[in-house]
Amino acid sequence: MTDPTPRPVLVTGGNRGIGLAIASTLRDAGHPVVVGSRSGEAPDGLPAVALDVTDTASVDAAFTEAEKIVGAPMGALVANAGITKDQLLMRMSDADIDSVLDTNLVGAIRCARRATKSMLRAKSGRIVLMSSVVGLYGSPGQVNYAASKAGLVGVARSLTRELGGRRITTNVVAPGYIDTAMTEDLPEDLKTTYRGIIPAGRFGEVSEVAAAVRFLLSDDASYVSGAVIPVDGGLGMGH
Ligand code: NDP
Repeated sequence: MTDPTPRPVLVTGGNRGIGLAIASTLRDAGHPVVVGSRSGEAPDGLPAVALDVTDTASVDAAFTEAEKIVGAPMGALVANAGITKDQLLMRMSDADIDSVLDTNLVGAIRCARRATKSMLRAKSGRIVLMSSVVGLYGSPGQVNYAASKAGLVGVARSLTRELGGRRITTNVVAPGYIDTAMTEDLPEDLKTTYRGIIPAGRFGEVSEVAAAVRFLLSDDASYVSGAVIPVDGGLGMGH
């Protein structure tokens, strides 16, 4: 079944992993989707634009191009692009700190700033920021990543206070451990340990994250803003 209100949406980092699942799910729900990827290559029959979230000019150009592709301003943004550069803090380089914060946190802010221009004119919009259970739960070796993901909660709640009166919602989705390239490289013993502490007893599927994002873009979520929606099999309960 398709959603009754189609919202042109840009999904950053939508060429693979969780972003691709979100883009495909939203397309199947009837939303005009454009995928942003650094290479600009289109995956799975979805239109794509070149987008580097660490570069304001690239963000601006990507939105302009996406608007041309769908013939309308973006009514929704899924700020999904993210990287990890894990290391114990005492060994973490400035470059590892800067690049993770610049991509995951500042990149999402850059995209939200560009997206809200047309949303304000339309007095309608949906922004979804891809955080992580790690942002509020913490994780050794991920001080830079956890800080970037926790920061997104402040972004969503501040934007909700700034723009909530204009029918623009901003929410955070906080996945736990999901089967993607990002988790594939974890050592097998660590994966077994994680599965042991996740109440669901397994890693999540990308489709399970995409379903939460689809809900947040739907008319059913019109009164949900500033929320952190966990998709983590119960790992982060209460955090
Ligand atoms: P992947 O590593 O599979 O994909 C990351 C995506 O981000 C890629 O599309 C990548 O593009 C894009 N990206 C990275 N840097 C930039 C940049 N500077 N500009 C534009 N795009 C960029 O990650 P996942 O699919 O696993 O994760 C997606 C999001 O979900 C991330 O924000 C991640 O932190 C979050 N998350 C993931 C979890 C997991 O278990 N997998 C758990 C919790 C949260 P490119 O192909 O060009 O590199």
